[in-house]
Amino acid sequence: MHAAHAGASLFLPRPFTQQDFATAAERLVTARRQERAKVMVVDDDPEAVRALSQVLVSDAVEVVGLENAYGLLDALARHRPDLLLLDVQMPGPSGFDLCRILRLTPEWQELPILLITAQVGLEFRLAAFQAGADDYLAKPVLKEELRARVHARLERARLSRERTERDALTGLMLRRPFVEAVAARLSEARRGDRPLALCFLDVDHFKKVNDQHGHLAGDRVLMRLGRLLGARFRREDLRARWGGEEFVVALLGESAESAKEILSRTAEELAGMAFESDAGKTFHVTFSAGLAVAPQDGTTLDELLRAADARLYRAKENGRNRIETE
Ligand code: GH3
Ligand code: MG
Ligand code: MG
Repeated sequence: MHAAHAGASLFLPRPFTQQDFATAAERLVTARRQERAKVMVVDDDPEAVRALSQVLVSDAVEVVGLENAYGLLDALARHRPDLLLLDVQMPGPSGFDLCRILRLTPEWQELPILLITAQVGLEFRLAAFQAGADDYLAKPVLKEELRARVHARLERARLSRERTERDALTGLMLRRPFVEAVAARLSEARRGDRPLALCFLDVDHFKKVNDQHGHLAGDRVLMRLGRLLGARFRREDLRARWGGEEFVVALLGESAESAKEILSRTAEELAGMAFESDAGKTFHVTFSAGLAVAPQDGTTLDELLRAADARLYRAKENGRNRIETE
């Protein structure tokens, strides 16, 4: 109770291991570097879109407005919001209809949806939940209430996403959410006529690290490399643990040369880190990487992954601790 009143961010019950402590510290650090959450506001009245956006927009929240409900699925695919605010009474499909449609679409089944309406009778409230809404708000919308409801939903959604989409050891995305997010970045790159660099990283001689220095030391290597990948790069760059000691990074707007330079810096940083074996001995690690860039090396994720993987193999053959781009 004292901890909660003092405004603690995380409670770690005793007894805990060194690993528990490191993981907790890690969580606090990543929590502070959160991405801005994205809210999409759908209302046929531009004035309402503007007013709602103004209330919600902040350092933590970005808002996209949509006045034409017919464009909803396209807009969702493009902006991938974390929460949807839907007006109920609109020409064409109503908020109820849209809500039902989204609940039938696997990709958007879990998207938090708040309905906004002038009607607040029991019949309406039941209809809102039957359509699959998470919550509803009555017009005129009270600013503080709107913010409070939206923030509560966003925080819940963020925590649940973190559990299901993040790798616990490294704090990076898992393979499946990465693949989904890269597909969206790829079409963005195509539309904007920009390159997209995809890079496979694999820790060198990691089996030996485990054998010579212990499995826990191996885990610490993965954790720190994950943290390094998480901390460097831009916010919109995607970084994931592909599996085992393999990682993948997608950089939008980078050419092969610029991406290689960025990754070389990461490689240097990792090589400069001192690790401690389970027995207290110091050791160092390196990684090898294969880099492929859209559109030159392919335009689909599959083609890019294949090209990057072949180059990673070449980097290993050519002596490791290097980045191959062809
Ligand atoms: P190369 O330089 O060719 O990549 O050699 P390598 O030894 O790194 O390659 P290999 O893929 O054969 O070995 C990967 C090892 O990574 C085998 C596996 O036991 C270990 N590993 C995979 N996941 C984890 C993990 O979460 N923690 C630890 N400590 N080891 C892991
Ligand atoms: Mg491997
Ligand atoms: Mg390896």
